[in-house]
Amino acid sequence: MIYLGVCGWPVAHSRSPQMHNAALAAAGLDGWRYLRMPLPPELFAETVRALPAAGFRGVNVTIPHKQAALALADRASDAARAIGAANTLTFSGGAIEADNTDAPGLLAALGESPAGRTALVLGAGGAGRAAAWALTTAGAADVAIWNRTPERARALAAELGARAVEKVPVADIVVNCTSVGLSDAEATFKALPVEADELGAGSLVVDMVYRAGETRFLEAARTRGARVVDGLEILVAQGAASFERWTGMEAPREAMRDAANTIAEP
Ligand code: NAP
Repeated sequence: MIYLGVCGWPVAHSRSPQMHNAALAAAGLDGWRYLRMPLPPELFAETVRALPAAGFRGVNVTIPHKQAALALADRASDAARAIGAANTLTFSGGAIEADNTDAPGLLAALGESPAGRTALVLGAGGAGRAAAWALTTAGAADVAIWNRTPERARALAAELGARAVEKVPVADIVVNCTSVGLSDAEATFKALPVEADELGAGSLVVDMVYRAGETRFLEAARTRGARVVDGLEILVAQGAASFERWTGMEAPREAMRDAANTIAEP
């Protein structure tokens, strides 16, 4: 048996086990299993180092371990190093390799190149860092970063050569990378600095948040004529990139999307 998994604390909410086990089945990888692995921070490093000997090919890593995952790796991709966090570890020939598939996942899910377009990133946490790096390296003409705590936006903008904003500009691409809208839909437009009417035709609006049903942010954008990409699509895209890294096979995205979609909210 070859094992994969997702390490987090907590990790009960993760849809990755269902999504990846559906992918393994669709790809005919009968001898592979993807496990849910609750792992407290104090046990993270020693447990991960023991995984290759226990038959693991790799793991996804989620909150709060993404920085620790990068720190313990022997090698890291440019994306993981620049973002300062890894969501994918691969065990290869005795080494631990760190990667960040959130960034390519976002670009794949956009469905069009951001090159030459203006972008607004809301949030400067882990998802905001990945999105701002992805958009900057993919050639967006302007990447504006807003964050509730402005110092974090300023620090991230300085690292990436982007710009931090407190008053947000109208942009071609708007990506919500805050957790706003996850638990309280009504709070969305009070907590975020964007007016619903600014999310109109011609813009591409992305919400990293995924939940049962559409978020208020995407509903507002879609009803005003914007093209929208939801958090589930990004979950599938980052998962597909991890799957391909571990198996060397093309990820069965439809099977992954169906499995991720059919899971009830906790
Ligand atoms: P994080 O590192 O904890 O960052 C949270 C971000 O949300 C920070 O920018 C924080 O601002 C902001 N925030 C929280 N509450 C807020 C409020 N009431 N008003 C305004 N801003 C607020 O979390 P993360 O890893 O970046 O994840 C952010 C969201 O993206 C989560 O909902 C997560 O589930 C989702 N996500 C989805 C995917 C996917 O595959 N679809 C991947 C990664 C993350 P401060 O700095 O001011 O605290």
